[in-house]
Amino acid sequence: MHQNNQHTPTPRRIVDPESVTAWMADGNCRLHPPEVFFPSDGAGVDRAQAICGRCPVAHTCLEYALEHRIEHGVWGGASERERRRILKRRRLTVTAD
Ligand code: SF4
Repeated sequence: MHQNNQHTPTPRRIVDPESVTAWMADGNCRLHPPEVFFPSDGAGVDRAQAICGRCPVAHTCLEYALEHRIEHGVWGGASERERRRILKRRRLTVTAD
């Protein structure tokens, strides 16, 4: 649910339910400091991924990050490298069809 380096909790009552980012209000990361999702090492990535693994909006979060080509941080349980791999795989699938 983080917006680049601004991993700001969003109180549910001020979220516009029509917004494309309304799902962020339900993200588990609202309960953690933003820097947790911008780790500098593998252990930090594991820690963020464990939180994402219990997140009810992980799928939406990952798709949002992929769609918006967000390069930094852990989103939807996927690291930067993993998102690059997913995008590459999807590109290959599209061109193979
Ligand atoms: S999947 Fe992770 S980054 Fe995305 S909203 Fe949930 S806790 Fe936050």
